[in-house]
Amino acid sequence: MGMTWKRHGAHIYGSRRWKGVRVQVLRRDGWRCVSCGSAGQLEVDHVKPIRDGGAPFDMSNLQALCPSCHTRKTRLECGHPELSPARRAWRDLLKTAGKQGNTKCLIQ
Ligand SMILES: [Zn+2]
Repeated sequence: MGMTWKRHGAHIYGSRRWKGVRVQVLRRDGWRCVSCGSAGQLEVDHVKPIRDGGAPFDMSNLQALCPSCHTRKTRLECGHPELSPARRAWRDLLKTAGKQGNTKCLIQ
């Protein structure tokens, strides 16, 4: 148990329910990235990852992110030790990080 989140994720993202919730989240967040305000391409991110027990369809656990902010967040989740106010920490990091092409942890 616990190692099947990828399959689980695919099941969620392919569902009709997800498509409905996703649009509701984008609408709630004004069709903008909640981190940087970008209004281009958007993805809906789980604030608490599903693999960590986050609710897949709970709008309070979802937020609109642009692909680059989403990638950075995922990178933090999978590589770096969590600092106590984790959410605030990654937001600060997003503001100051600039361009760092390290996406290794996405592949591993
Ligand atoms: Zn963004």
